[in-house]
Amino acid sequence: MKKKSQQKRILLKLSGEALVEEGKRGITPFALKDIAKEIASASKDCQLAVVIGGGNIWRGVRDGGGIIDRVNSDNMGMLATVINALALQSALEDINIPTRVLTSINIYELAEAFIRRKAVRHLEKGRVIIFAGGTGNPFFTTDSAAALRASEIGADILLKATQVDGVYDSDPRKNPKAKLISRITYGEAISKGLQFMDTAALALCMENNLPIQVFNLHKKGNIKAAVDGKKIGTIIY
Ligand code: UDP
Repeated sequence: MKKKSQQKRILLKLSGEALVEEGKRGITPFALKDIAKEIASASKDCQLAVVIGGGNIWRGVRDGGGIIDRVNSDNMGMLATVINALALQSALEDINIPTRVLTSINIYELAEAFIRRKAVRHLEKGRVIIFAGGTGNPFFTTDSAAALRASEIGADILLKATQVDGVYDSDPRKNPKAKLISRITYGEAISKGLQFMDTAALALCMENNLPIQVFNLHKKGNIKAAVDGKKIGTIIY
């Protein structure tokens, strides 16, 4: 979709963990306030859409414990993203950032339906969009939702804020010698099986020539730096 304005259009993927302090679950006001401030400062000079995950509340079949089937577990995960989106909306509005929550699942008493043209209109009017409900389908993740929505709205880049500094050649939490990669192609990332994003999401970005930047969520100012085109973390192109 062609943009009318010269402003960059950015899709920011935040995992649900962005709304909670490390080691905890659910939503904590302190973390929520912090991330809202980071988003507010990043949103000043760009059109910003956020895809929020749900893993801080419910992580699909992993939390189902063998009792809740895959589809219901995934549906619960999608509902968790709606809860997070509403929390983030309130936190942003609390600091005077206009927002709209658009959902992929029918829950229209709480939020608008995702309609691509409406989403673009909101961005053009300077509202921060929060995409909730993932793709609206079980068996997917919010990474795939981020790749999909970014492609649909014609985003210039997908920013993925994570728990570590970027993409490593092995898991830095398990291997202290893991090396941070500054640039890597989609093909290399897929063939090396790097675990920073699910393969379906990565493949969609590759097909649509959508660059991805992965960086540390916990470093203050990082979201703004990535929006401004600073070379932090890892670029996948
Ligand atoms: N989910 C889903 N379809 C989607 C997006 C999410 O079924 O399109 C479910 C899935 O169970 C997933 C959960 O919602 O585990 C929470 O999303 P995700 O794990 O991507 O959140 P994050 O880890 O980013 O917080």
